[in-house]
Amino acid sequence: MKITSIRQGVVPIMSAIANAYIDFSKMTASVVAVTVESGDGRKATGYGFNSNGRYAQPGLLTERFIPRLEEAGELPAHEDGGFDPTPAWTAMMKNEKPGGHGDRSVAVGVLDMALWDAAAKLAGLPLWKLLSNRFNGGRHDATAWVYAAGGYYHPGKDVDGLVEEMKRYLGQGYSVVKMKIGGSPGMPLREALLLDLSRIEAVLKLLDGDGSRLCVDVNGRFGLHAALSYGAAIQNFGLRWYEEPLDPLDYATHATLAEHYQPPLATGENLFSMLDARNLIRHGGLRPDRDILQFDPALSYGLVEYLRTLTMLREHGWSPRRCVPHGGHQFALNIATGLGLGGNESYPEVFAPFGGFASGVPVVDSRVAMPDVPGIGFEVKNDLWAVLKDL
Ligand code: MG
Repeated sequence: MKITSIRQGVVPIMSAIANAYIDFSKMTASVVAVTVESGDGRKATGYGFNSNGRYAQPGLLTERFIPRLEEAGELPAHEDGGFDPTPAWTAMMKNEKPGGHGDRSVAVGVLDMALWDAAAKLAGLPLWKLLSNRFNGGRHDATAWVYAAGGYYHPGKDVDGLVEEMKRYLGQGYSVVKMKIGGSPGMPLREALLLDLSRIEAVLKLLDGDGSRLCVDVNGRFGLHAALSYGAAIQNFGLRWYEEPLDPLDYATHATLAEHYQPPLATGENLFSMLDARNLIRHGGLRPDRDILQFDPALSYGLVEYLRTLTMLREHGWSPRRCVPHGGHQFALNIATGLGLGGNESYPEVFAPFGGFASGVPVVDSRVAMPDVPGIGFEVKNDLWAVLKDL
């Protein structure tokens, strides 16, 4: 097993939208193509990209991670005879100190995605099936639960515009939707809260008052006071979850919030390693019977590291069903299906062409089936394949 070619590019995924923390008008993504030869005359090219919310990483890829993969030489096969991304991952991380994950975990995640795509293609299997065989005793889900993430702030967008957007998601087959809150910088807390309550109530009305069909997302904007104030105001809506109310690394404050806010919390999309995830589990006061963990394998050193995170969670009494990764990409969808996670995020209207799933596969009652094609399935997602095939 040998990596024989790596190509990379940078593509825009900018958009006029904003959440409570950043606007996406200058967002970019790295894309890579990695060719692996099996030694018996077979070869496969896998593709990878970084998940939204973090920028392209051409410098780190060019200077460190691509050269290390190119110099890795002959790599040991998996015990099933196929390609194993783990030794390649270890080669990439040579001479990297612990801690300080930052953008490094994004660059490694881009290449890791491509390595898994290639591994599944060499095996002639969809990635979800390869993962099910290797790590889940052959078990997998027939479909994955997905929810429509949107409700961004957008210049000129009012409450009616928000409700219309959510209506479109329901028409596309989603029964659970997510909206941004806490994105009125400079507005006094009480005023911002009243505005957000009117936005939440308008969407709840569309959902027949069923709070279990609505998630709200703060994108880490609040301090403890605002998080508690919002929590008290939304506590009785029965919302599906209250997402990233606090800075993702402020574990003790999460623990305080969890003492006061009984319904489900969700967080983790900005924690980029198993060790950061473990700190959240150890110190964040989260509750394995209800809370949701959103670590995004594409942003956090890829699936080789995410497998370590899932092992850590089991050791701490957490089911993989509590995991619903951030990012809305096909990579996490394969992982959700093959490893029995709780589901996956979906962005029906933003982050094209990286968000979204295989073309022509419908969402039915917030569940989506996987295509039966080798690899992650990029070749059957028409808009994304148009970008990747140029590599
Ligand atoms: Mg979020």
